[in-house]
Amino acid sequence: MPINDIPITDLHGVGEVLAKRLLYIGIKTVRDLVFYFPRDYEDLSVVQPIAAAQEGEKINIKGKIERINTQRTFRKRMAVIQARVKDETGALNVVWFNQPYLQEQLKVGDELQLSGVVKRDRYGLSLHSPVYEKVSASRELIHTGRIVPKYSLTAGITQKQIRYLMKQSLSRVLPIADFLPPEIVSTYSLLALTDALRGIHFPENEMHFEQAKRRLEFEELYVAQLMAQCIRKDIAQQTAPTLKLHEQELQQFVSTLPFRLTNAQRRAAWAILQDLEKTHPMNRLLVGDVGSGKTIVAAMAMWNTVLCGKQAVLMAPTEILAQQHTQYLEKLFAHADIQIELWTSRTSKEKKQLTDIQKKHPNIIIGTHALLQDYARFENVGLVIIDEQHRFGVRQRKFLKEHSGVHTMMPHLLSMTATPIPRTFALAAYGDLDISIIDEQPPGRKPVMTRLVPREKRIVAYRWLQKHIVNGEQVFVICPIIEESDTLGVKSVSAESLRLRDVFPGVRIEMLHGKMKGTEKDAIMENMRAGKIDILVSTSVIEVGVDIPNATIMLIEDADRFGLAQLHQFRGRVGRSNKQSYCLLFTNAQSAKTVERLDALTKSQNGFQLAEYDLKLRGAGELYGTAQSGFSPYFLTSLQQPELIQETREAALKTMDTNLITHYPLLQEKLNARLLDVHLE
Ligand code: ADP
Ligand code: MG
Repeated sequence: MPINDIPITDLHGVGEVLAKRLLYIGIKTVRDLVFYFPRDYEDLSVVQPIAAAQEGEKINIKGKIERINTQRTFRKRMAVIQARVKDETGALNVVWFNQPYLQEQLKVGDELQLSGVVKRDRYGLSLHSPVYEKVSASRELIHTGRIVPKYSLTAGITQKQIRYLMKQSLSRVLPIADFLPPEIVSTYSLLALTDALRGIHFPENEMHFEQAKRRLEFEELYVAQLMAQCIRKDIAQQTAPTLKLHEQELQQFVSTLPFRLTNAQRRAAWAILQDLEKTHPMNRLLVGDVGSGKTIVAAMAMWNTVLCGKQAVLMAPTEILAQQHTQYLEKLFAHADIQIELWTSRTSKEKKQLTDIQKKHPNIIIGTHALLQDYARFENVGLVIIDEQHRFGVRQRKFLKEHSGVHTMMPHLLSMTATPIPRTFALAAYGDLDISIIDEQPPGRKPVMTRLVPREKRIVAYRWLQKHIVNGEQVFVICPIIEESDTLGVKSVSAESLRLRDVFPGVRIEMLHGKMKGTEKDAIMENMRAGKIDILVSTSVIEVGVDIPNATIMLIEDADRFGLAQLHQFRGRVGRSNKQSYCLLFTNAQSAKTVERLDALTKSQNGFQLAEYDLKLRGAGELYGTAQSGFSPYFLTSLQQPELIQETREAALKTMDTNLITHYPLLQEKLNARLLDVHLE
């Protein structure tokens, strides 16, 4: 029977109750189980002499049962099993509470492997309810005496149970047919899948585990890269309108700007303009720190599109940002004879019923991401730009393809993000996109002065804040959550704004969070922009690109709860004028590691540096948040390994070149499943 089909209830020891509990953690079949990887390991492979036992220390011993008996506690009638275990160096008492069946299982003379913390009781040094396992020549140890796997579990399943089931499963289902081509396995000296599964659950030694981990990381990255290459191939087969470079007109346009483009902006613009000239659609991601000037680069691409007689669509995540973009572009193109149209939820239905002429008329259409639904109404779109989007690419592109309506060609697609993505990470996680990075800020920007404020200095900080508010400057306060959850003791937006009203009587304080209606949020942001609010207390919704030059102070509560990249994004909300701006970080966390991490923010203003640092310190999962969840843990750890990324990329390209996929139905199947996941997400 193929292993996919063996239900978990076929295993020895799985009844209805346990099957239900396993279902909670997504395990239905034996196959599900063997792909349920440990969250951690404990190395119990080194056996210590009993003589080395020390009160309060963990010990890992092997010895024979000298004596064993059961007693009942006087009051509760609880069974207490008492044993004495001896090795060549000494003996130790072992006690188990309330496990009467042990009396049946363990006999004098049995050899035991034990691990637990040494206590001192009235019999001397003792182990209380240690992990134990009988040593026998015919059975491999799985709970002790080796590197022992630990799994994330739900209530009602014990580590011992799942290890027992895992061992059974592995012996029942292996060998599993490997989906990696043998060429790849041998070229990159990888473990075969079967051996890797053994090594990840029950490694023989450290080396075996490392090799197993490398194999699983490799396959995750390799499949991701192959998938990216397949998407690239698909795009290369689509046709897009060729948008010839209007070099002179663009130079003329750039010369009217009140500033000089940075070199990084020039490079990015050049790459984009070259893409637009091609006959297949562009699929590019423009990455640039907050304030690095992505909009002007986008504007150049839009201008070139308009000059070619095509329409450009620009989408922003919120209506406020769409309005901001509209104002910016109207100013930028004030002297050009072009029509710019803002398209929001307030745009009337009648207006959206376009006449034939209108469909071709606006040169630039600006709206929120919802505009994606409407874009097919315009007949002449050559370029679609999506601003401040975290997860982009595949899904939007698919949408464009399906909703192309009257379009016979695919538009070019440019996504923009201020999330600093390290280059190697981007290669792996967004391999289907071409990437341009603006890694340079326009000259003359004042760094945002950033401080980690010690707890006892809060009052002083508030006095300082008061002075700035009196001077007419505005403040953002960021809290991790909306409502107080007493168990966590984490600052909430609603409690904090009440508290601040007490601290700063007469100061105009409002709050903003994700559960508010869109129009409500817009109104608050409008008031903030108009200077009618002094302190805005907000959750992380403030993260995305709003420009309020008069806001000069950013205060972040429980800063340890955020990743560095995200904190850096918050900080980017201030420092948008020639006034000095400040960012104050508060935290209750004491650990040196946390303080060091937050301290990095006070020393660097470079988003990419901070992101690299975060990637090393906290891993990819933390850095890229829940948006990336659903990935295997080995995918996330693999993203921290630039060399492995290069290697798998090379392997994937080779596979594409040699058409290897078609020879390996299992690999093909894996890719199809993955592509489907991406489209469905
Ligand atoms: P972001 O990359 O965060 O979207 P914007 O495009 O909003 O940044 O640019 C931030 C500000 O910097 C804008 O006011 C823009 O006009 C200005 N700017 C852009 N490029 C330059 C430059 N090369 N020199 C000076 N200022 C610039
Ligand atoms: Mg922007």
